Amino acid sequence: MSKVRTRFAPSPTGRMHVGNLRTALYAYLIAKHEGGDFMLRIEDTDQERFVDGALEIIYHTLEETGLIHDEGPDKDGGVGPYVQSERNASGLYLQYAKQLIDQGDAYYCFCDKERLDSLKSKVSEDGGTEIVVYDKHCLGLGKEEVEANLAAGKPYVIRFNMPTEGTTTFHDEIYGDISVPNEELDDLILIKSDGYPTYNFANVIDDHLMGITHVVRGNEYLSSAPKYNKIYEAFGWEVPVYVHCPLITDENHKKLSKRCGHSSYEDLIDQGFVKEAVVNYVALLGWCPSDNQEIFSLEELVKAFDYRHMSKSPAVFDIVKLKWMNGEYLKAMDFDRFYGMAEPYIKEVVTKPYDLRKIASLVKTRIEIFPDIREQIDFFEELPEYDTTMYCHKKMKTNEENSLEVLKDVLDILKGQDDFSNDGLFAALKGYVDEKGYKTGFVMWPVRTAVSGKQNTPGGATEIMEILGKEESLARIRKGIELLSK
Ligand code: GLU
Repeated sequence: MSKVRTRFAPSPTGRMHVGNLRTALYAYLIAKHEGGDFMLRIEDTDQERFVDGALEIIYHTLEETGLIHDEGPDKDGGVGPYVQSERNASGLYLQYAKQLIDQGDAYYCFCDKERLDSLKSKVSEDGGTEIVVYDKHCLGLGKEEVEANLAAGKPYVIRFNMPTEGTTTFHDEIYGDISVPNEELDDLILIKSDGYPTYNFANVIDDHLMGITHVVRGNEYLSSAPKYNKIYEAFGWEVPVYVHCPLITDENHKKLSKRCGHSSYEDLIDQGFVKEAVVNYVALLGWCPSDNQEIFSLEELVKAFDYRHMSKSPAVFDIVKLKWMNGEYLKAMDFDRFYGMAEPYIKEVVTKPYDLRKIASLVKTRIEIFPDIREQIDFFEELPEYDTTMYCHKKMKTNEENSLEVLKDVLDILKGQDDFSNDGLFAALKGYVDEKGYKTGFVMWPVRTAVSGKQNTPGGATEIMEILGKEESLARIRKGIELLSK
């Protein structure tokens, strides 16, 4: 069997949609699983849709996610150029279109917009989709007429001459065999009036010339595959293996779109997700490992990924699951890297000279995404206003009265305490707990409430006091006593 070669063929039209990232990832995994090559090809033949900066996004995202291409515009592998506009500049697509014209498989079409608009749509045999197929009007033009039109500079497109009878069957690895009546196949445009090839034509030419063995793309292209097969057939070229990826939907089972606010890789990174978690999660949108493993590094994905285990049912993008997964990545992350990423979020809410690394270590195992940090540590800057009912905890058997007593004792103890490290503080409070025969929580609950003013905090009373320091901790305990004495 020849070496597996896959490609990611984005159009530079903006942010990297989650669906595109998944296509790139699956194409990468299929190639790497088999020790093959992964190629990047830029499909920029639709000049109107070109967005400035989109190319940079493509390069940046692939690099950041580790989907490193073996060949591409910046890495020549001998089948370039890898940018379609550059390929077009050499007349490559036109040359192949002309070959099809010579064979009788394609023809010039001079129909103007008005005429095309007037073509009636007809309903497909099964009564379902409404399709408009070109009526082959220009196929009937004589050679002289065509030449006269061309000489007169009349705008034209080049169309493929699809058969009108019989059916075309093609095989997709995920969706199985699909048959389409040929009368539904439009005479698709190969070369547009601006001289550029259509995506439909260019992808076939390029996939063949670049030796692509497996074509991985979104299922929105599934209905076009039979038309591409006709083009392969007309040239006598081998059809690649097709792997169409299932639709990705939002929680409401609608196609994942910009509206949901997390449809692109950049959106997710901006929202505080880490790249490894995004890649891991995206891998599971349409593919299921044979065991129940959920956390995968890219290397592990390369080993485990088998496109035969992909699913054709739509994959729901579940942001809650992604958050959970992100949290798992944060827990496992090397502390210095975590701190580097967490610091800006911490600094948003903490401006006082506390030990920010200690704050970061408190939240590391307790957040799912970085923005969660804000709400978790906002009490460091300023003790929030709180209700004294917060001192009442059924299980700890604390109430406002006994909490007042505990806080008074603790204040006395801590006044004489110089070691404000977590261990030192814990030892001091534990000594008091033991002396009184209390349960640890009976003391820690009121102290933590007093120093944080919050029901839930990352870290316990002594960890928080270590960061606040003696002066601020005592001030907060005094404040608690004041509130409880009212
Ligand atoms: N340029 C197409 C896109 O961005 C690529 C489709 C394909 O992979 O063939 O969607």
